[in-house]
Amino acid sequence: MTSTALHVGQELSLAQLQSGQFDERYVLSSRVRTGRSIRGLGLPPACTRAERREVERVVVDALAGLKGDLAGRYYSLTQMTDKEQQQLIDDHFLFDKPVSPLLTCAGMARDWPDARGIWHNNEKTFLIWINEEDHTRVISMEKGGNMKRVFERFCKGLKEVERLIQERGWEFMWNESLGYVLTCPSNLGTGLRAGVHVKLPLLSKDPRFNKILDNLRLQKRGTGGVDTAAVGGTFDISNLDRLGQSEVHLVQTVVDGVNYLVECEKRLEKGQDIKVPAPIKQFK
Ligand code: ADP
Ligand code: MG
Repeated sequence: MTSTALHVGQELSLAQLQSGQFDERYVLSSRVRTGRSIRGLGLPPACTRAERREVERVVVDALAGLKGDLAGRYYSLTQMTDKEQQQLIDDHFLFDKPVSPLLTCAGMARDWPDARGIWHNNEKTFLIWINEEDHTRVISMEKGGNMKRVFERFCKGLKEVERLIQERGWEFMWNESLGYVLTCPSNLGTGLRAGVHVKLPLLSKDPRFNKILDNLRLQKRGTGGVDTAAVGGTFDISNLDRLGQSEVHLVQTVVDGVNYLVECEKRLEKGQDIKVPAPIKQFK
């Protein structure tokens, strides 16, 4: 990519998504997230305490406008008990305490837990993290393998959030080369990470596992989040790239890739051989 390259156009729509229902004997949960930063306020590694509080005020005020199945409320970290916080973390809804070096070494854990919190709808299927690694993280998730429904809710909810923020005179940080500007450069572009928790006990022990993931442009994490180890052969598998493809294409990469991994797992269960697929390209 040269410095004059432009970010791909946004595609927050289901229209082009093929299939999107995983085999639920293997896929336990499905999730799509992105981040958004509020233009005019400093990013978490360098913001002032006042700016961080302003992010919380602006975003919580806007989210009060969400309606119907997206309607919910805000839970500030400073107002929840340790037990409530730990339960939300254990259930995979809330960001971890600032244990990751990513947060602590970059200054993002300053004043913790001041102005941090989570907003979610009643079903906990649409969630917004405030002032963790990004000003906001917008998340759609549910148990099971219906990635299509998860992405549909993500598209609808994210557009609503943007509209409500803009109505109040604010906008997201974006430019035509980098796309959406998030705190970590690895998230520039769409900021989108679509992922599943999937059981792959046999494939994950196969020496070709990492090569297969690389070629499918997928990334693995433990189910406790980034920097955690996988337990019992269950992994968080998601798209590797945020840049170079539109939102719906990244989700399609995950749908196709995870279906391939599940097929491999089934073949190994039957004692059949598997193939390393040809590498797919990051930039189309
Ligand atoms: P992110 O890229 O959203 O910051 P992390 O790896 O930091 O993701 O994990 C944040 C939390 O989200 C963790 O509790 C993790 O278990 C949870 N999580 C991530 N993907 C999924 C998924 N597909 N299903 C359920 N929970 C998930
Ligand atoms: Mg994270």
